[in-house]
Amino acid sequence: MAQLRLPPQRRLLLAGMILALALAALFWRHYAASRFVYAVSLEGTVLGAVPSETQAKQAVEKLAVLAPSGAGLAEQVTIQRVPVSDRLLQLTADELAERLQAAANRQVPAVAIRVAGQSVVFVADRETAQSVVDAIEADYRQALDAQAEVKQVAIKEQLTLADGMARADDVRTAEEAQRILVRGTDKLQTYTVQRGDTLWRIAEVNGLTPDDLSQANPGVKPTALQPGQELNLIVAEPYIHLESTEEVTVVENIPFDVETRQDPDRYPWQSEYLVKGVFGKRQVTYAVSRENGKVVERKPLKEEVLSDAKGAVFVQGTKLAPKLGSGQFLLPISGARLTSGFGWRGREFHPGLDLAAPKGTAIVAADDGTVVEAGWDGGYGYAVRIDHGEGKLVTIYGHLSSIAVKQGQTVKKGELIGYEGSTGRSTGPHLHFEVRRDGKAVDPRQFFPD
Ligand SMILES: [Zn+2]
Repeated sequence: MAQLRLPPQRRLLLAGMILALALAALFWRHYAASRFVYAVSLEGTVLGAVPSETQAKQAVEKLAVLAPSGAGLAEQVTIQRVPVSDRLLQLTADELAERLQAAANRQVPAVAIRVAGQSVVFVADRETAQSVVDAIEADYRQALDAQAEVKQVAIKEQLTLADGMARADDVRTAEEAQRILVRGTDKLQTYTVQRGDTLWRIAEVNGLTPDDLSQANPGVKPTALQPGQELNLIVAEPYIHLESTEEVTVVENIPFDVETRQDPDRYPWQSEYLVKGVFGKRQVTYAVSRENGKVVERKPLKEEVLSDAKGAVFVQGTKLAPKLGSGQFLLPISGARLTSGFGWRGREFHPGLDLAAPKGTAIVAADDGTVVEAGWDGGYGYAVRIDHGEGKLVTIYGHLSSIAVKQGQTVKKGELIGYEGSTGRSTGPHLHFEVRRDGKAVDPRQFFPD
């Protein structure tokens, strides 16, 4: 074999060329490696690559908007900066979004929460399913009376879990699953109360009955709406119902008996409590059963008397007012005009005479008698009642501006008892004069001399 012999200059040239090639290869490799793309993978499977990180992120954001379960899926997406490679599928941002969407719609292993054998909602796994059930019970517990000792909270329906497959879209987060089970839907629709709104009007405008609206907003008082307050517009149709029992211990009053003694030596207005009653106290523990928060049974479990009740003694005066007067009346007001007589006026029966005179005109007793009542008397306003004998004949003077006599006082015919006014159910200053015989209103005119 002939030895290749080159002159020294040529050898130097060759070495230079080899060096240049090596350097070029090195630079090429470096240049190629400097071209990076963003590989996007979902749960470890690479879907493809896009030129910029922004495009990758936008596609993931789109997924979160389009698919209800996308928000959960978006967390499983990883974006990696990698060198360009033939093995990586090059995608546009739109293509990547489509691929992510398709991945989101595929069937995934899931756990169905079943109510009485019917699959109601899917979650990712048994652990999530259990956390849903736990959260439902915990929230219910929290809504119960804080003072009660909750003994038991249970879901009334039979809940079972079933492993299977579901569209990734249909797999709910724990919060969504809880809402669906408890309210029948995961939709939220609210109304913000405006100034001047009423529950009735809000219901009408939103196509609900006031009952529905109240039911959708337990605890909201129709009379206490505040502008800016949020009302729930969706009436719950729950898949499940919760039952609970709690023990509540309360201190209650024990009522006392009242013994009434009749005393013929006292007038009725001298009746009084001889001994005041005192409530006893008892501590009672109740077992309260509820369904969806509503009390369905309240059963006393144990009772301990802390103190006994003490009975009251009431003395009832039965003494009758003495028979006084002549039965011949004096007009109780002078210078007055009769504005309404005794009898029917329209559909209303007027049981006396209305006698109008300037406010403050003196009112006098129509006959001798005993003042059995002097004070506020409902529709009569400030009024005086005079008994002219054993309750059989009583005169009433109503709408007074002030009273000049006291209960129990004896008055003479013509004696000042008060001043005319317009108190009680009255439209202007006048005296309402009424006469009752054996408790029944009669025409007063028969008692005046002609
Ligand atoms: Zn009248």
